[in-house]
Amino acid sequence: MSTTIKDLFTHNRAWAAEMERTRPGFFSGLEKQQTPKFMWIGCSDSRVPANQITGLEPGEVFVHRNVANVIVHSDLNALSAVQFAVDMLKVEDIMVVGHYRCGGVIAALEGARIGVADNWIRHIQDVRDRHRSQLESVAPDKRGDLLVDLNVVEQVVNLCVSTVMVDAWAKGQKVRIHGWAFGVHDGLLQDLGASVDGTEAIEPMYNRAIDGIVAKYR
Ligand SMILES: [Zn+2]
Repeated sequence: MSTTIKDLFTHNRAWAAEMERTRPGFFSGLEKQQTPKFMWIGCSDSRVPANQITGLEPGEVFVHRNVANVIVHSDLNALSAVQFAVDMLKVEDIMVVGHYRCGGVIAALEGARIGVADNWIRHIQDVRDRHRSQLESVAPDKRGDLLVDLNVVEQVVNLCVSTVMVDAWAKGQKVRIHGWAFGVHDGLLQDLGASVDGTEAIEPMYNRAIDGIVAKYR
């Protein structure tokens, strides 16, 4: 039997009641403010729910998702979310999270035409083209997952050089950025070794992370 819209409300009522039963005052505590330490920038894919796979509750992670977890400098949506998280919420860690079997990344790799999203996916094709020799150095069936990882590292760099992060680090704010990938086939998060805690850490991270990632697939 498939889930209906009505079921969603039924589930919601049951969930809220269960939360209130086991944690009295949970929602009235949340009502006052949110103080998440974490920001998650991930793919819109329904198989990658940020809270569930990290065991975080409402109020604990500020989330921005788009197709293939891309950070584009002209994307006011993503940058506004990042600025709010960094300047107002003072999050301490931001993770950029890709996932294996990502439809957006696979479309970019294969040059598939989808529609409007082609223009968005073009950003991932730029990553593909930048790393063409590394992609060609591994078996064809591994290239999709390799491009997922490479895309995460490139998006971490895009985030690091955004005005929001440059200004935050210049002020001495303690905020770290990380690059992770999630396995929809095993439910596990992988740390891609792409953590950065300041502007000067970008370049050493980049070279080390790319080398480590490519070695993993050879
Ligand atoms: Zn995806």
